[in-house]
Amino acid sequence: MYGKPYLSKSRRGSFGFLFYNLFYSFVLNRLLDKRNRYKICWRSKLSIRQLTLPTFWAELSNKLISDTFLIFKRRIISMSTKSCINNHTTRLPLQTSPLAVEDTPMFVCLSFDDNYDANGLSWVLQMLELFQNPCGYDVFSSKPLSATFFVQSGPSWEREDMLTLWRNAHEYGHDLGNHTDAHSFWDPFEGDVSQNFWRYQIGLCNDFLTLPLEKGGVNHGTISGFRAPFMRYDDNLLQVLLENGMKYDSSLPAGNTPSHDGTNNYWPYTLDNGSPEHDIAVESGWKTKISKYPGLWEAPTHCLIVPPNQELEKFGINYSLREKIADRVDWFDTETGKGENFDCNLYNSPAEGGSGLTGRDVFAIYAHNLDLRLKGNRAPLILGLHSEHYAYFGYEPFFTTPESSVEDRRIALMRFIKYALSKPEVRFVSLKTLIDWMEEPTPLKIRAV
Ligand SMILES: [Zn+2]
Repeated sequence: MYGKPYLSKSRRGSFGFLFYNLFYSFVLNRLLDKRNRYKICWRSKLSIRQLTLPTFWAELSNKLISDTFLIFKRRIISMSTKSCINNHTTRLPLQTSPLAVEDTPMFVCLSFDDNYDANGLSWVLQMLELFQNPCGYDVFSSKPLSATFFVQSGPSWEREDMLTLWRNAHEYGHDLGNHTDAHSFWDPFEGDVSQNFWRYQIGLCNDFLTLPLEKGGVNHGTISGFRAPFMRYDDNLLQVLLENGMKYDSSLPAGNTPSHDGTNNYWPYTLDNGSPEHDIAVESGWKTKISKYPGLWEAPTHCLIVPPNQELEKFGINYSLREKIADRVDWFDTETGKGENFDCNLYNSPAEGGSGLTGRDVFAIYAHNLDLRLKGNRAPLILGLHSEHYAYFGYEPFFTTPESSVEDRRIALMRFIKYALSKPEVRFVSLKTLIDWMEEPTPLKIRAV
């Protein structure tokens, strides 16, 4: 979800990179940084000074040719996307599965954002290989676990270790989604970011993921999914997602409908009539209005219900987890227990806006929410994660997490996966697979018929 804005050295000296730096880093930063709308890495400016004139002209001519090709390619994608949208699937927000509950797999979708470090990404990929879905007779049973990785491409360009990991992840069957190139910070309440900005950012990340191996890409094929940096989006961004043929987004608020309690959350839906949970956030004053986007799926990353006191003994917790979080997070409501989903917000220091929880606390939250779904409508459990939170940076943890170490977090995530796989109805799939299933659902089959 978050990460340091960063631009790869791979494009130092290119015309697009020069233009990007001059326009966005210099002009917009100068105009807008006082209002804290953009933060783009300063190291990019150093590279502009290092340009020599012959290098500049060589890069300029190369870039003009390749950009002309890319613009042409995107026009074709845009035209084919429009024809797809005319025949799009509509699924309004519903609290029911497309199938009867007993025929519905309990989908668990692990979604990792940012992923700018090889140590954390490598650990996550190797860890997932240790498991497979429970036995059964449906299309997902006994299959390897697949997850979704929303890639911030900037830190991965021209890094052989990252490229190898991404290519392996793709070949293994994981879904690689777009998380922009630079992961820029902005505030929708202070004005729009232009469509051209999003075209450039989303286009760069798509290029990284789809370019053939010999051009330094991952050779992924079509990119289906997107998650907005900092979960911040507006109409300009959503419009560009459609232009780029994205099938689903996973950035909108979810689980904040007052009557939803973890047993009856919305299933994924298309934005034909907008999003009721986004509208609640608009009424509450923390999101800006958006239009309707027929055919664009929303994969909801619901807020998680913190277990009430009477549920904590089985997790070995002898204090009130809701009170612990309420002492640290202003808005947390101990009555509903509705809290954060993303690992950064669960683990990070309260001084950084997190809850500063232990691995045991987080495992209890994950397990409780899976239990609620299994008792209820089996709405998919989509967890927001960051591979960096399972990484050692030069043998040191990077994040300020007062009550958990890297090992604690690794153990908590693995413990949850093992717990989930002990439930015969659970199927770990990527978000792309989940959305495909929504369009063509196939029944869970635990036993041979
Ligand atoms: Zn992010």
